[in-house]
Amino acid sequence: MAEIIKITDRISYIKATDNPLSADVGIVEGDEFIWTFDVGADESVPISLNKIQKPKNAVISHFHPDHMGNLEHVNLNEIYLGANTFKYANRGIIVGEDFFFDDGVKIHIFPLPSSHAKGSVGMEIGDYAFLGDATYATMKQGRICYNASVLKEEIAVLKKLSAKLFLISHDEKFIRPREEILAELEEIYSKRNPKESFIWI
Ligand SMILES: [Zn+2]
Repeated sequence: MAEIIKITDRISYIKATDNPLSADVGIVEGDEFIWTFDVGADESVPISLNKIQKPKNAVISHFHPDHMGNLEHVNLNEIYLGANTFKYANRGIIVGEDFFFDDGVKIHIFPLPSSHAKGSVGMEIGDYAFLGDATYATMKQGRICYNASVLKEEIAVLKKLSAKLFLISHDEKFIRPREEILAELEEIYSKRNPKESFIWI
């Protein structure tokens, strides 16, 4: 069984692992539903999630297997994901715009432009915003880079959030100050060459 780590009365998470590669899994307790952010890939994760006696909705950050590998192993009521992720999952509701749910806690699910993965989605609950891998770079021609225009859009979306803390999957710290993440992304964006689509890291 995977350990569930408490953040607040309503928010907890299961820590990412490297072997097997499995992303952090957010768990938000609403009055009616449990809302998970990603479902991970480690087989211990669904065992822990399925023990929670409440119907579960999953929000899938993006299509990478370490984030959605357990999709068939968790008993789910509904799945929310980006259009590109839908191609891999073949089920769920596509998040093409901001979704708001009031389940005793206010849940905000939103499309998140990302160089790392097309069709990324984030989930905001009060002071906390789960961002998955969306703030990471991608690889092109064997080099690490950001897509400049996508990064600009991503920064704009993140700035509109009211959350003070960003939860970054695989990050050793996981819960990080919003300003720190925004400063890092703006620093990267400032290095762009206006003649190039990509910012090489
Ligand atoms: Zn990823």
